[in-house]
Amino acid sequence: MAKNTSTKNTAEWNYAASPESTSHIRLEKKYQLFINNEWVSPSSKKYFPSTNPASEEVLAEIAWANDVDVDKAVKAARKAYQEVWSKLSGAERGKYIYRIARMMQERAREFAVIESLDCGKPIRESRDVDVPLACNHFFYYAGWADKLEYAMPHKKPEALGVAGQIIPWNFPLLMAAWKIAPALAAGNTVVLKPAETTSLTALKLAEIIKDSGLPPGVVNIVTGYGDTGAAIVNHPDIDKIAFTGSTNVGKIIQRAIAGTHKKSTLELGGKSANIIFDDAPIDQAVEGIVNGIFFNQGHVCCAGSRLFVQENIAERVIHKLKSRMESLYVGDPLDKNTDIGAINSKEQLETIEKYIRIGKEEGAEIYQSQCAIPSKGYFCRPTLFTGVSQSHVIAQEEIFGPVLTIQTFRTVDEVIQKANNTPYGLAAGVWTDKGSRIFNLTTKLRAGVVWANTYNKFDPVSPFGGYKESGFGREGGVHGLGAYLK
Ligand code: NAP
Ligand code: MG
Repeated sequence: MAKNTSTKNTAEWNYAASPESTSHIRLEKKYQLFINNEWVSPSSKKYFPSTNPASEEVLAEIAWANDVDVDKAVKAARKAYQEVWSKLSGAERGKYIYRIARMMQERAREFAVIESLDCGKPIRESRDVDVPLACNHFFYYAGWADKLEYAMPHKKPEALGVAGQIIPWNFPLLMAAWKIAPALAAGNTVVLKPAETTSLTALKLAEIIKDSGLPPGVVNIVTGYGDTGAAIVNHPDIDKIAFTGSTNVGKIIQRAIAGTHKKSTLELGGKSANIIFDDAPIDQAVEGIVNGIFFNQGHVCCAGSRLFVQENIAERVIHKLKSRMESLYVGDPLDKNTDIGAINSKEQLETIEKYIRIGKEEGAEIYQSQCAIPSKGYFCRPTLFTGVSQSHVIAQEEIFGPVLTIQTFRTVDEVIQKANNTPYGLAAGVWTDKGSRIFNLTTKLRAGVVWANTYNKFDPVSPFGGYKESGFGREGGVHGLGAYLK
């Protein structure tokens, strides 16, 4: 029997370890701020570590930008907007965006490994989902740059100016692509701040931006904590704030820019429902549920964290789900067999553990897979709760981890009412053989995206975004372009 770096002790056999090599990646010991296509040391003179959540080792020191640094970046972006970028034709802008996409694609393996190291997500996901999708976003929006008149007919679309963009840690490179690509295609310049625990792929992207010959100041990347993000939000010369992150910080941002000229799009939290009817293909649905909540350790804004199963099949579904959970590999993110990697940070692991405690205290019944988890690093077993009611905290609040709550229903109306009973409205999944039922539910579920007989599928062409406390504005597709135009 081969020994695996991923842990799994319930089955009789294991896959041999298959770790992705790190020999081809290049990381600096220390990263500066990326302003005007130059690496600039922070005027704060402060740096913070970025760690590998699977090993707790420091990967690099990252510059911590303060107000003065953010001001420098905004000035660079403004100058680039006025003197260069706004004067280029759409076709010329498109060429740069296309070149960035090509260069990212050429270095896809390096991006995937660094993402897994810094963020904790399994290499299979960073390699097959995050990095290709990020490249595709640049390819897709490169194509729009000279067709803005077609995207917004008779509206004389114009760029907004300087966009401040703040992103979270769950899809670091992908979120950077979601933000930068449409902004550039629409003719804006950018100041982007990655999340403090996952700055590395954004900084690698900065290398590509520099190598691509994009004019200096068009994209600036400032790293730091929440105060760096707040400095962007509060800077008077920013025209647009594009934020992806928690609903709490989204509310702070909305208050901060109220009454200013700044436009905004906010992509916030979620507590999405995955609904299985008794005519659904059960095995396929179970795979979809597993993908919906355990994919990326549940660090997915649109994670299908609330499962609703029709009562007459609940026992069967739960049995199959538990048995599938036992076959999931939790462990080394760089191992190609790993299904569930490391939780992004100690703080996030503590948050997830707090919610698991709350679930037990509320009287829900817990089931966790039996797998052993590595002694070092931040890991969490896939977890589900049955005996959950609508009022339970674990069914109401976003946990942002591999924790699923299960409730049952009898009728369509009942499940619509239950699924919509949340302050959020980001995504939902419906599993049924009946087309008319799918159409009925897609019109009644208050969610930005409704997947039918699948889950967590993304494409640059289709818009994404929420209702209610999941935010407003759409990213992706033509809609995503509109968010950067006046
Ligand atoms: P977060 O704490 O809100 O942080 C998001 C970003 O905002 C980070 O870069 C953060 O910097 C920065 N920030 C923190 N305080 C700020 C402030 N006062 N002003 C301006 N910026 C500030 O969220 P997170 O924990 O990183 O991400 C998880 C959340 O993102 C979840 O709620 C998830 O649902 C949501 N999300 C939503 C979508 C979507 O498309 N709707 C997609 C992905 C994630 P630091 O990292 O340095 O604190
Ligand atoms: Mg990290």
